[in-house]
Amino acid sequence: MDEKKVELLKDGKRISGRAFDELREVKIKLGVLDEADGSSYIEWGNNKVIVGVYGPKEVIPRHMENPSKAILKCNYSMVTFCSKEEHGKMGPNRRSVELSKVIREALEGIVETNLFPRTQIEIYMVVLEADAGTRIASFLGAVAALLDAGIPIKDIAVGIAAGKVGGKVVVDLDKDEDNFGEADFPVALTRTGDILLLQMDGKLTKEEVEEALGLIFEKSEVLLSKLREAVEEKYSKEVVKELKFSNKIIK
Ligand code: UDP
Repeated sequence: MDEKKVELLKDGKRISGRAFDELREVKIKLGVLDEADGSSYIEWGNNKVIVGVYGPKEVIPRHMENPSKAILKCNYSMVTFCSKEEHGKMGPNRRSVELSKVIREALEGIVETNLFPRTQIEIYMVVLEADAGTRIASFLGAVAALLDAGIPIKDIAVGIAAGKVGGKVVVDLDKDEDNFGEADFPVALTRTGDILLLQMDGKLTKEEVEEALGLIFEKSEVLLSKLREAVEEKYSKEVVKELKFSNKIIK
């Protein structure tokens, strides 16, 4: 148990200088890998994640085929030099298996898998640098790479976390806040307000959960804009129109 006390708020601001409802800077770029069918690179504060999407393609091993839909194979991993922290050897571990699973389940809520029976779609998310919030950054990068691959999705979705630090509900925790704060609450949601992923580390009261969800919904619109800009940058305004890309979260 870490007994170290860290002041996370100073003069009504977070130690990073951010306001309670302020996101870290987010940059998204599409089409960063030549061999992939779709790819993205995302910087979210000090997090750096690269995502490659391959498929729809033949299912290997064959017996895993589903005659009525595509299967999604998600792989989240961290490179050994992604942080100063001890994070073991490369290769799967309990955390990377969990994160791959929750991200896959979230993506299954939006990808039109029924259009591609007997195929697999592979989504690889590699964290190059980590500073808390990598599961939601990876989810956002996966949505961007799926858009780049032209794989139909039912609704655009984003990932975003809220939490509690120094007794205050805040959005988008960085590493110090994640380590020494009271709660971390990552969520992935669609533009129409469906929740695809919801996890919580720590404790929040019912009122705090409501406040956190309010912040999540409000700030998701910033991420939707970033995704739209990334699609516009590589493709065109027409493609954005076709995707019915609105920044407004419909609740
Ligand atoms: N972290 C790390 N190595 C690990 C696990 C975690 O460096 O093996 C750091 C990293 O900065 C990560 C943060 O701890 O972003 C918080 O990890 P958590 O499991 O809460 O997931 P995340 O917030 O990244 O989705």
